[in-house]
Amino acid sequence: MSYNCHAEYLGDGRLRIKQKDFDRLYRAFVLARDGGRCRYCDSGSDLSLDHLRPPRMGGGHGPENLVTACRSCNSRKGSRTPEQAGMALVAA
Ligand SMILES: [Zn+2]
Repeated sequence: MSYNCHAEYLGDGRLRIKQKDFDRLYRAFVLARDGGRCRYCDSGSDLSLDHLRPPRMGGGHGPENLVTACRSCNSRKGSRTPEQAGMALVAA
């Protein structure tokens, strides 16, 4: 995957990037933290991000509420917590 990330240095250690670029970097950050594996089944393909506590249940968008999940686990879990879905997290 390659893409251009346009960042503008604002001084004082601040960087301005586009929302689109932020989303990609944020996703890459969470994937890297989780070792590029699904946290539910350890699959390494078809990955997406899953909210542990769904936003409609008050879950936030911070990294502590996001885990890497493959698409099939993500859709199996749906808008539930892992406990409600009966799904356990594997160690990252
Ligand atoms: Zn999975």
